[in-house]
Amino acid sequence: MALVNENHLKLPGNYLFAEIAKRVNAYKSEHPEAKIIRLGIGDVTRPLPQASIEAMHKAVDEMGHVETFQGYPEYEGYDFLIEKIIEVDYKKRGIKVERDEVFVSDGAKSDTANIQELFGVNNKIAVTDPVYPVYVDSNVMAGRTGALGSDGKWSNVVYLSCTAENNFIPELPKEKVDLIYLCFPNNPTGMTLTKEQLKAWVDYARKNKAIILFDSAYEAFIHEKDVPHSIYEVEGAREVAIEFRSFSKTAGFTGTRCAYTVIPKEVTAYTASGEACSLNRMWYRRQATKFNGVSYIVQRGAEAVYSEEGQQQVKELIGYYMENARIIREGLQSIGIQVFGGVNSPYIWLKTPKGMDSWAFFDKLLKEINVVGTPGVGFGPSGEGYFRLTAFGSRENTEEAVERFRTKLKI
Ligand SMILES: *Cc1c(COP(=O)(O)O)cnc(C)c1O
Repeated sequence: MALVNENHLKLPGNYLFAEIAKRVNAYKSEHPEAKIIRLGIGDVTRPLPQASIEAMHKAVDEMGHVETFQGYPEYEGYDFLIEKIIEVDYKKRGIKVERDEVFVSDGAKSDTANIQELFGVNNKIAVTDPVYPVYVDSNVMAGRTGALGSDGKWSNVVYLSCTAENNFIPELPKEKVDLIYLCFPNNPTGMTLTKEQLKAWVDYARKNKAIILFDSAYEAFIHEKDVPHSIYEVEGAREVAIEFRSFSKTAGFTGTRCAYTVIPKEVTAYTASGEACSLNRMWYRRQATKFNGVSYIVQRGAEAVYSEEGQQQVKELIGYYMENARIIREGLQSIGIQVFGGVNSPYIWLKTPKGMDSWAFFDKLLKEINVVGTPGVGFGPSGEGYFRLTAFGSRENTEEAVERFRTKLKI
């Protein structure tokens, strides 16, 4: 008899987006004429940079000739892409990363979900609350999280509450933890850490022999000067941090699929008997077994992001979304709504007016102004009383939505 991995059965259904769809569909069937604007989407909408399109066309043609045909790619990515990643994303910022420390992949989602396989089942994990659900759910599947309580928290996970009270800056845990997931600029709050604040985490990890799993998917949205672009800007981070990056939000690759993970050779975890193990070598071995690389065509498209034209086009792409973010942020502020984020990130996190709960505010927006966003509580218990809007829509829809907030919402 085949037995299932019962850890998978502990996962609740994907309640958040199913519930949103259910409420929107119910409203639409009663009000078929309503023009609903969705500012809840966490997906980009602008087309790929032209430089990537041209590079991928060329790569497709190369695949059609015996002289230039490519078979299986290297597990860790082609040199042409890894060299550009190191040069532009790290060396230009004064950060040392070596060729065999970069692992190209099909997404930061899969990498942040899979990385936990390298760690023992008894590690204690810490996550910020609210949080990108992938970090928690992948650990649930691995049996690391204990039982789900009625407060929405897993018994064996340490939640680092991030609310307006602490300016969305997680405090160091009181108990000892082994794996720490940090994502800055943050999804969903849109907030960032300064180098000093990040250093406190690196120091904690070094002191406790913990590992920081640093999700940097929104790095390209950083505009302010004192916000670190990489955790490796912090002294000592090479000993304790793994960094995840993605072309998804940076260059519109959500449907094209390319990302990378950096694991410095110094990053070390231990056997029960205290023997040090290189996570870099373990990840290489894991990828060699479970992953056959990213397509040649897509890696050429990603490489083109680093060309002069590619960099200019990406800047315009990010600029488009950040102008949407400004329109949302300033529009909501003008009617007295307290907003966070939206400066170094495409997410605007707002405090619901008059202490309304997240779902009550969702219903109010849907009914009064036909705007759909994401209830903050869907990202974790500390998200209750907050709400997420994204800057990934079209300019026209963003302006129309903000106009409705200003003229039609009764608060
Ligand atoms: C969108 C997003 C990613 C990117 O995932 P891909 O699989 O690379 O598309 C990673 N982390 C967070 C927090 C995200 O919001």
